[in-house]
Amino acid sequence: MKNKLDFIGTEFRKKLKQVINHLDKSVDVLYEIATKDEKTGLYNNRFFREIFDIELENAKRGKVFCLIVVDIDFFKKVNDKYGHLTGDRVLKSLAKILQKSLRKKDIIARFGGEEFFVLLPDTIIKKAEKIAERLRKKVEESKVNPKITISLGVSEYKKRDNFRTITNRADKALYKAKEQGRNKVVVS
Ligand code: GH3
Ligand code: MG
Ligand code: MG
Repeated sequence: MKNKLDFIGTEFRKKLKQVINHLDKSVDVLYEIATKDEKTGLYNNRFFREIFDIELENAKRGKVFCLIVVDIDFFKKVNDKYGHLTGDRVLKSLAKILQKSLRKKDIIARFGGEEFFVLLPDTIIKKAEKIAERLRKKVEESKVNPKITISLGVSEYKKRDNFRTITNRADKALYKAKEQGRNKVVVS
């Protein structure tokens, strides 16, 4: 009788372990779906907002951070000339360049069609400008085919900022970069 119970117990444990393992993998899959942009593998805007809010709380206690808005120049022309699939490939290539060029703690998100947000924790504006310029150059010199360039707007956290105010400043800087001929970095 004891042997039979032992056997059932072992089998039951095995089954439970399988279920837990399965659930564990499901959590990983769900986490990816909930936080990442499907096309590029970068973070999605929902997750970006979560991280941004945490950074904002930290900033209220004295930490610094900067935001870069990245936008592909004349991307519509890429789609018109080479098609949407090529456009998608270009988006993926740009995402890879951004990921390779930044630190692990920097948060990169695809925020709209061809617009990306980069959150730089513990970074002052002078450093953020240099980082943005490095990204601009990397894209300009990359082998992405067809060739693309990016424009970047940079802003830093200021007292009493919220998501809207800091992104508005970065957007205005981006708009100036476009006005000044594109393939440029402008600091707000
Ligand atoms: P600018 O230099 O002023 O930014 O010009 P632009 O052509 O890049 O800007 P515009 O906003 O006119 O066009 C953005 C284009 O991005 C239009 C749209 O077709 C394309 N786009 C947005 N999302 C995607 C996507 O997921 N895949 C592809 N292939 N194209 C996309
Ligand atoms: Mg664009
Ligand atoms: Mg755009």
